[in-house]
Amino acid sequence: MDGYIMALDQGTTSSRCILFDHSGKICSIAQKEFPQYFPQPGWVEHDPMEIWSSQFAVAMEAMAQIGVTATGIAGIGITNQRETTILWDRKTGKPIYNAIVWQCRRTADMIDALSDEQKKVIRGKTGLVPDAYFSATKIAWILDHVKGARQQAGNGEICFGNVDSWLIWNLTKGGVHITDYTNASRTMLFNIHEMKWDDELLEMFNIPREILPEARPSSMIYGYTDPAILGGRIPIAAAAGDQQSALFGQCCFEPGEVKNTYGTGGFLLMNTGHEAIESAHGLLTTVAATPEGEETSYALEGSVFVAGSSIQWLRDEMRMVKTTAQSEEYADEVYDTAGVYVVPSFTGLGAPYWNPYARGTIVGLTRGCKKEHFIRATLESICYQSMDVITAMEEDAGVPLTGLKVDGGASANNFLMKFQANLMNTQVFRPKCIETTALGAAYLAGMAVGYWKDRDEIKENWQLGRTFTPELDDKTRNELMKGWHRAVRCAISWADDEE
Ligand code: ADP
Repeated sequence: MDGYIMALDQGTTSSRCILFDHSGKICSIAQKEFPQYFPQPGWVEHDPMEIWSSQFAVAMEAMAQIGVTATGIAGIGITNQRETTILWDRKTGKPIYNAIVWQCRRTADMIDALSDEQKKVIRGKTGLVPDAYFSATKIAWILDHVKGARQQAGNGEICFGNVDSWLIWNLTKGGVHITDYTNASRTMLFNIHEMKWDDELLEMFNIPREILPEARPSSMIYGYTDPAILGGRIPIAAAAGDQQSALFGQCCFEPGEVKNTYGTGGFLLMNTGHEAIESAHGLLTTVAATPEGEETSYALEGSVFVAGSSIQWLRDEMRMVKTTAQSEEYADEVYDTAGVYVVPSFTGLGAPYWNPYARGTIVGLTRGCKKEHFIRATLESICYQSMDVITAMEEDAGVPLTGLKVDGGASANNFLMKFQANLMNTQVFRPKCIETTALGAAYLAGMAVGYWKDRDEIKENWQLGRTFTPELDDKTRNELMKGWHRAVRCAISWADDEE
């Protein structure tokens, strides 16, 4: 098959572009960071024009690196930071406010003001635990704080989009206002059972329907790039939120298959097939990337707020390591943590605890605790937190995990992967290509334009890099987990005792 598939991977801190060939090999890669804005404590914004210009620049750079032109690109797939909210003027294409980033907590009080009944409706229709992360309250905030925005919105003069919509709008020079189902499922306005924008939710958050993009499957041709952008008309053939894209890129096509991404945060997703399983343990139910013409697939999702970022913390604030990779060498120098547990709940605890007030806690210190123990305990905390989510998922799904596919920057750490396998007591599979987020978007786009025939052909590309096999006895494993839960209780009681 000639040509390449272009994946645009628009993340929270950088924009990346990767060109893949038919075997799923990375042929060209370009990346550019862009500024983060923190106008007040707890607030996080991006400049939508900086999102677009950095994404556009890396697309050009990736093409230039290997001398390919628009005719050599068979299709474009987009994957993006989810929930981040942009409103722009339909006529001029200018944003009316900065992008409010998923991490931004400014609308927490709007969530607190919801009644229990309203929260139940949201949970039932969207599969989400009501939270300020999701787009709904962010949209309402912009409409309420930008002068004249509500009236303009009512007149159909304003467009809302997550980052996927914003990129598609710009790639088509305003020709297409569309989003995919996976992104829509994170707005808290989308009914994931009926697959449509929900009037009751729109009313609850006071959001006019006129601003919404059309919601479509994750793999289909949405439109073509304007020739003035990349020098030709390239089909824009896929969009999916980053985690759903990684699930697809890991070829977790069958119900029960699970992937865990170890990035800044950690994201565990389990394919649950055509069934939207409602979690009894605070996990989210979400739409999985599904090509056009197929029945919708769903996933259960649990996240770990602080995963790889705890190693950045060791590097930048604690100054215990020079590089994040060095954490592996230190951890391997000791046999255990000397009884120390680090609970890196810097911003509270996610699933299954959902305690926003818990704070980072270190327990079990003795005179013999060395830096190596501390580093090891921090790495282990990533696995313990993942383990809590895995246990919740197993209980919701009613089946034990039989293996875990991993990716993300920190999955390169062998100590981390070994310890994860030990805690889970199942094998951990690390593919050769850990760029699965971009790969998922590429596969989805490639399927829409006939570059890849079907999932079976794609599966042949999934290559195992390394398998990690558990080597821990049950007794030790249970003791370790017991110790972790004791440590978590300390983190929670620290918050509970506040006067
Ligand atoms: P994101 O996509 O969230 O920006 P990446 O997948 O690029 O994240 O992974 C980066 C994260 O992984 C950082 O938080 C970094 O600390 C962590 N990381 C990268 N390499 C290692 C390593 N060898 N050991 C431990 N952590 C690592």
